[in-house]
Amino acid sequence: MEEWKFYMPTRIRFGWGRFKEIRQVVDELKGKKIFLVTSRHFAKKYGFLDKLADYLKGLAVEIYAEIEENPSIETVDRGAVKCKETTSDLVIGLGGGSAMDAGKAIAMLQKNPGSIREYLDQERVCQAKGLPVITLPTTSGTGSEVTPFTVIFHPAKKAKPAIAPPENFPDVALVDPELTTSMPFEVAASTGLDALCQAVEGFWSTQGNPVTRSLAFQTIKLAMENLESACFEKDRDSVTNMALASHLTGIEMSNIGNTSIHPLSYPITIDYGVPHGFACAIFLPEVIRFNASAIKDRFRDLLALLNLPNPEVFADKVDSLMEKLKAPTRLSKLGVKEEDFPGIAKRGMGRSTAWNPRPMTEEDIIQICRSIF
Ligand code: NAD
Repeated sequence: MEEWKFYMPTRIRFGWGRFKEIRQVVDELKGKKIFLVTSRHFAKKYGFLDKLADYLKGLAVEIYAEIEENPSIETVDRGAVKCKETTSDLVIGLGGGSAMDAGKAIAMLQKNPGSIREYLDQERVCQAKGLPVITLPTTSGTGSEVTPFTVIFHPAKKAKPAIAPPENFPDVALVDPELTTSMPFEVAASTGLDALCQAVEGFWSTQGNPVTRSLAFQTIKLAMENLESACFEKDRDSVTNMALASHLTGIEMSNIGNTSIHPLSYPITIDYGVPHGFACAIFLPEVIRFNASAIKDRFRDLLALLNLPNPEVFADKVDSLMEKLKAPTRLSKLGVKEEDFPGIAKRGMGRSTAWNPRPMTEEDIIQICRSIF
């Protein structure tokens, strides 16, 4: 029997309509001055801010609605200064992975000195738990509401490094699938594919354990069965199941990270402006084919769960799901040129690439890029 450990300090409330419990959660954490971190535009446009103001009546709420997709060092540092100036005592991260990651970073910087850059560049390490954090996801993809990860765009390095000190686990994740119903089609498709990628990476990671694999299996099944209808029909069941898929893969990933696909996505997002989930998914079918021979036994269990005959059919099914969701499946369509492959291969190797079940070299990545060109 393999030895393993698992850690999940975040308290979780999951369920349709539970957004209204935010006041109860804030009171439990004794928050009086709230610093709300959210993305530009959408929170106001879809009425989230009005609802929050109503639920949090009587408390001081400072709104920092400045978070861009793939939040930058500058945006986080500016938010951290503003949070300090307002002497806030609790941070709420409302949005997709970008807003929740920025919220976690801003909360950390209230009790740890310096710029977030210094932590990303490993010049400093997190020494103290930051302000209490409540995460409220509005996309179904990253699972950031339950992870210690903070992924930040580092312009000088043209990279998206992450930090993951255990102190950065949010205190409470309030997951209300109803909050995701305003996602435009492309955001629902891209973030849902991110959840699927994370789960497949969790399924085959060399860092996996029985808990993470159970979560990964469940997520893959939920995503394969619900993503299409969550995007097209937006019915309550499939939307809830995608929120659950994203959440479960967040719990899984919080303990073991990703493997080869997430690092590969970063140059595609940074250089060609492709949304995070699409940038991951474009590699998924080919990396399934690449890894299939290395994990025959484990694939047998997954294929039985999905009722599929072999990994090739699984890869084809992912391909056809991506076509239906209008996700890009060819690098050439994104403006990638063949001469870009070596750069993608170099920058697309991260720490977690080593956790791929089959060793992956820069030459392998170039070959994968050729196959999906
Ligand atoms: P996102 O947060 O960047 O949001 C995408 C777009 O959708 C934004 O324009 C946002 O304003 C909009 N949006 C969000 N929710 C909406 C809603 N309900 N209605 C209408 N519009 C809405 O996208 P994401 O994919 O959730 O997050 C991606 C980021 O998360 C990347 O930076 C990625 O690297 C990071 N990430 C973090 C983790 C982690 O564990 N911390 C894991 C995976 C990815």
